[in-house]
Amino acid sequence: MTVVGLLGLQGAFLDHIRHLTSLGAGYRIIRDAAGLMAVDRLIIPGGESTVMGKFLQEFRMIDPLRARIAQGMPVWGICAGAVLLAGTVDGGPGRLQVLPVSVARNAYGRQLASREHDIDIPILAAAGGASPFPAVFIRSPRILAVGPEVAVHARAFKDPVFVQKGRVMATTFHPELTMDPVFHHYFMGL
Ligand code: GLN
Repeated sequence: MTVVGLLGLQGAFLDHIRHLTSLGAGYRIIRDAAGLMAVDRLIIPGGESTVMGKFLQEFRMIDPLRARIAQGMPVWGICAGAVLLAGTVDGGPGRLQVLPVSVARNAYGRQLASREHDIDIPILAAAGGASPFPAVFIRSPRILAVGPEVAVHARAFKDPVFVQKGRVMATTFHPELTMDPVFHHYFMGL
């Protein structure tokens, strides 16, 4: 059985369990580098990227995590998780720097602090996902620029909101809060 790691240092990691279970996947909550070695893929949840980044550093997980991703472990960052994966955050270096995108944290302001927005995701609609998909944004980062090798699968407010490079994917919204497990299904196929 595929075991999906849920980075469980902080944030919305528990919300992924029902989708993973419905897809027949196992899961394991990861809080240290040893746990990281016991999973096939990893979800970095939404939450607070500053707090999660500090814990990653404190628990000496940054280098082991970067190494596993470099070796081809699929990883999906959601919202704060996307911030942690990014190369550039608010003009400075990101924590993991495994996804060549530049992001600005909390860049949509109050009006977009928390809302649902319908977006078209052709790559998932082709696999039977709801289209348009009701994407839930919660104090989301804004992806300002993507490297040439980054695929943009969906946009909202004209900005990329679902991007992927190889086995690293990021969404600036929260598919775990929607009933449709199509994102988890897509991630399981990376
Ligand atoms: N604003 C948070 C951050 O930048 C992200 C919010 C979220 O994950 N929903 O860390």
